[in-house]
Amino acid sequence: MNVTEHLLKHQIKPSVQRIAIMQYLLDHKTHPSVDEIHAAISLYIPTLSKTTVYNTLKLFADQDAAQMLTIDERRVCFDGDATPHSHFLCKKCGSIYDFFFQESAKDVMPQEVNGHEITEIHYYYKGFCKNCLNHND
Ligand SMILES: [Zn+2]
Ligand SMILES: [Zn+2]
Repeated sequence: MNVTEHLLKHQIKPSVQRIAIMQYLLDHKTHPSVDEIHAAISLYIPTLSKTTVYNTLKLFADQDAAQMLTIDERRVCFDGDATPHSHFLCKKCGSIYDFFFQESAKDVMPQEVNGHEITEIHYYYKGFCKNCLNHND
């Protein structure tokens, strides 16, 4: 995917910093936190502040170019894949895994409930991942 085109498609003006942050999200499907993204990108853009990283990610989420995950109350995480899918958080190692819906998400997503318009749905699952289960003492 061309990052510049992706940003333009979501009405986001592509700056060097925005392209770097979006590229990182698309390259790292591990649902990184603001701290992780900032640590990686500030290696080659040292002037980049954590606040700018957060504000940029918030803009991506507002424009549907990425999604913000609040599954882990200790840190806000981000996903470069904005299509509706659910997430599983391992309570031991903190890894976040993707669960994809079987049918097209649009078919299962209600557009309206009791007169309220639905624009986002978040499905969060928590437990212990298979890696942690395999390493039990
Ligand atoms: Zn785990
Ligand atoms: Zn995801």
